Amino acid sequence: MSEMTAGPGELPGPAGPEASWVSCKRCQAVVYGKRLARSNGICPQCGHCRPLGAWDRLALLADPGSVEPLDLAADAADPLRFVDDKPYPQRIAEARQSTGLVEAVVCCRLRMAGTPAIAAVMDFRFMGGSLSGAVGELITCAAETALAQRLPLLLVTASGGVRMQEGVIGLMQMAKTAQALHQLDEAGLPTVCLVTDPTYGGVAASFAMLGDVVVAEPGARLGFAGPRVIAQTIKQELPAGFQTAEFLLDRGFLDLICPRPALRHRIGRLLAIGTRRDAVPPAPVEGGAYTVVRDPGLLPERRAWEAVRRARNVARPTTSDYLSMILDDFEELHGDRAGGDCPAIIGGVGRLGGTPLVVIGHEKGHTTRELDRRNYGMPGPAGYRKAARLLRLAAKWGLPVLTLVDTPGAYPGVDAEEQGQATAIAENLRLMGSLPVPVVTVITGEGCSGGALGIAVADRVLIMENAVYTVISPEGCAAILWRDAAAAPTAAQALRVDARSLLELGVVEAVIPEPPGGAEADHAAAAAALRAAVHAELADLAGLDQSRLVAQRRARFRRFGSSRRPDEAVLIPTEGGSW
Ligand SMILES: [Zn+2]
Repeated sequence: MSEMTAGPGELPGPAGPEASWVSCKRCQAVVYGKRLARSNGICPQCGHCRPLGAWDRLALLADPGSVEPLDLAADAADPLRFVDDKPYPQRIAEARQSTGLVEAVVCCRLRMAGTPAIAAVMDFRFMGGSLSGAVGELITCAAETALAQRLPLLLVTASGGVRMQEGVIGLMQMAKTAQALHQLDEAGLPTVCLVTDPTYGGVAASFAMLGDVVVAEPGARLGFAGPRVIAQTIKQELPAGFQTAEFLLDRGFLDLICPRPALRHRIGRLLAIGTRRDAVPPAPVEGGAYTVVRDPGLLPERRAWEAVRRARNVARPTTSDYLSMILDDFEELHGDRAGGDCPAIIGGVGRLGGTPLVVIGHEKGHTTRELDRRNYGMPGPAGYRKAARLLRLAAKWGLPVLTLVDTPGAYPGVDAEEQGQATAIAENLRLMGSLPVPVVTVITGEGCSGGALGIAVADRVLIMENAVYTVISPEGCAAILWRDAAAAPTAAQALRVDARSLLELGVVEAVIPEPPGGAEADHAAAAAALRAAVHAELADLAGLDQSRLVAQRRARFRRFGSSRRPDEAVLIPTEGGSW
C-alpha cells in the first residue's frame, strides 16, 4: 500500500493511504483508507494509532493555515562514503523520491490552539526516521530558532535510532541535540516532546526524553534497546506491554498519554502556560469573601485531639478535590523521570484566576479502594522526586507554586528506604529554599513530619482551621515518651498541633476559616476560602524580585529556634541559580 506524500507547501489532510483498503496492524480490521484519513489514522475498531507522516502530523497538530516551513540548510552528507548493498547517497535519493521529504524531519513555525511555537516533526518513512547529521542539524537549528525568536519548541519523535550509514557522526547528534535543548532550559523557554510510535535508540536517549513535558500517544513504544535485542540477550520473554507508553507512564518516564484528537489543544495549552509573560500580578480577589485569621486570639481554644480527629476525616476534600474546584485548565503531570510515579503525591500545571501556576499536593482519596491505591497519602521517594521535578519546572517557566499538605507521613517501608526516602526529602528542603519563584503552602488536613515539610518550604504557610501540623503523629509520640499509644490525646495537646497553636508559634502565617461543620461538610465553600486566600498571598508575593524572595524565605525558616526577634532577621543576599 502506498502512503500519501507531500512536500513543503502542500498540507494534505491527516491521512494514511488515500482510497485503498487498509488492514489494521493490531486488530487486522480492514478499513477504507478515506475513513482512516478522516479519523486521523486511528483504527475505528481498536483505537490503534497508525503512524503519521510529518505533514499529516502537522495537519493534525497545527492550527489551520498556521504552518510556515523554516528555511534551514542541512545538506545530506556521506561522511564515511558508506556502501552496503548500495551506496548511501543512492538510499537517500530513494528515500527522498518515495517520501517527497528532504530528510527525516520537517521544521516549521506554527500555532497550536493559538500559541505560536517552533516545531520539528520526524517522519519514520524516511529511512526509519534515523538520526543523521542532517537530521541532528535541522533539529538543532529549530531549537536555535526557538531561542532566537523566544518561542517554545515542540519535538515530535518517530525513529529507529542513529543512522548507521553515518557512523559516529550520527552518534554525535545525540550530544548536539541535547545541548540545544539545554540552551532552551537556560533561557526559560518551554520544550514539549511528543513521543510517537516507534521511538528508539539514540533519539529516545537524547532529545525525546529531554522536554520539560514528555507526552506520548496511546500505545507508542519507546526504548533505548529494541525488544528483539533485549529478548535475545536475556533469553526471556518480555512482559506484556513492555516499552509502551502505558508501561513508561507507570514507571515515571512520561508526563501524560494523550489521545490523538486532543493533542493540539492540550499541548497548545501547556505551551501557553509555559510561555513567560511580563510578570502581571494576579487581579484582586473577586467577591471579597477573603478572610483569613492572623490573630490567634480570634480563634476559639480547643482540644488538640479534636483537631487531629477532624483533620483525619476521610470526607474532607483531598488535593484533587481542591484542584478541581480552584483551578482552570489543570493538566496533571506524572513521574519522577527516574523510575517511579508515586500515587500519594500529585501535581501539574493550571491557572488560578487566570494566573498560571504549578501545583503539588499529597493525595489520599476517600474510599478504601482509593486510600489503598494512594497508599493513604504516604509518599515514597518517587513522590518527593516528582515534586522536585515540578518545582524545577516552575523555576524554569517562572511560575508560582502552590503546595497542599495532607499526609500522615512519608511511607515507612523497606523499598522507600532502599530508594532513598531521606535523600529525596532532604533534597526538596534545599531545592525549595532556593526556588526563585513564589511558593505558598496550605496545610489542608494532616501535616505530619518530614513527609509534610518535604513539600512545605514556602514563603507563606497557611493552614485550614481544622488541620494540624506536627513533628510526629500523637500516637507515635505517646508510644515513645508516655510508653502508651493510648496517651495520644495528651501527646497531641502537649505537641500543640492545632491551628491556633501553630499561629501562636509563628509556624503558619494565617488560618483559613472553614465553613460550618468543617471542610468535610461543604467542599465548595472550603475550596472557595482556600482559593481566595492563596490568590491574595500570590498577589502579595508577585511584586518581589527573585533574590529578595529567596532571602525572605530563608530568613523565615532561619528564625525558628533563634533568639533573634523577627525584625532582627538578616536577609542574606542570594547568588541564585542553584535550583
Ligand atoms: Zn485496529
